Amino acid sequence: MSHSNQNDNKGVTVVSEAVCQQIMGRADAFTAVENVFSAMAKDTAYNFPVIREAIGHADALYGFKSGFDRVGMVLGLKSGGYWPGNIDKGITNHQSTVILFDPDTGKLKALVGGNYLTAIRTAASSAVSIAHLARKDAKVLGMVGAGHQSTFQLRAALEQRNFEKVVAWNKEPEKLTALAVICEELSLPFESVSRESLCAQADVIITITSAFEALIDQSWIKPGTHIACMGTDTKGKQEVDAHLLAKARVFTDELAQSTTIGEAQHAIAEGLINQADIIPIGDVINGTKAGRTSDDEITLFDGTGVGLQDLAVASVASELAEAKGLATCFNL
Ligand code: NAD
Repeated sequence: MSHSNQNDNKGVTVVSEAVCQQIMGRADAFTAVENVFSAMAKDTAYNFPVIREAIGHADALYGFKSGFDRVGMVLGLKSGGYWPGNIDKGITNHQSTVILFDPDTGKLKALVGGNYLTAIRTAASSAVSIAHLARKDAKVLGMVGAGHQSTFQLRAALEQRNFEKVVAWNKEPEKLTALAVICEELSLPFESVSRESLCAQADVIITITSAFEALIDQSWIKPGTHIACMGTDTKGKQEVDAHLLAKARVFTDELAQSTTIGEAQHAIAEGLINQADIIPIGDVINGTKAGRTSDDEITLFDGTGVGLQDLAVASVASELAEAKGLATCFNL
């Protein structure tokens, strides 16, 4: 399908952070992310190699994540990174912008604020894993981490099962208030617990930290647990015991990232598992590989975060903003 004439007339669509927050909900993000994981497993969408560099200024890490979905006709990149000093300037440390291009012509199509979208596409990723892999009767959700992403993770996860309680742990326990407030709003019991107690109670666990060492011992995880490891997105980071990956059935958004920068990097490096042991979640979504096969199985989702997720939600946000008259347009 050609969109070039339409775009020639329309110019470049700009969607601000504020408009993204106004129009892009969790359900839209879930559908966009589930669809793109499915497309990746069918090889109709693929991510290009990631660029990530320490720029030697402001302690910043800067990079690009890009890709092309040739069925969804979404081409572009997310540019941005991590500026640790931003917090002192009153702005968020993670900064990103999504840039979309017309796949038919290469013309710039849209500029979309990427900060809020990053949070909801990451939350949608663990939510998709819970929807497809967690036990249907899961009742207790365990949250490991209470930083910026965690509240988005919590809200999206709670929509996937009839959870009756949330247990949580964070390195700085005072930050758990952000999660407790959401549970209060939703009339759900909330408990701050030790990591071991969290694992003993939780049927579904989300880890969303910047840790560089295992926070969870494999022996603490009870049979039937689904664990979504969402924090490890860089070489060297780690959230769970590498032996847990040998014990669990392991799923991921993308094999290439899982084995190099995801949670699986350590189990692979130690020879505990092979790449062939890891199942792309898109194959489960497409019904070409089995998801959970028993109530006792431990399922582990290694959510590394791919560029196509960003492009998918930005494309939906751009369409919604245009339809609602909330986008601004200009000609380059
Ligand atoms: P944040 O800085 O707001 O919060 C960091 C969290 O990690 C806090 O809960 C902190 O207590 C915890 N933490 C830091 N060091 C720790 C340690 N050594 N041991 C235990 N806990 C520790 O960050 P955020 O924006 O919430 O992001 C959390 C992580 O998720 C980051 O590592 C980030 O890179 C990653 N992330 C992944 C994706 C993805 O798609 N997979 C997307 C966005 C962010």
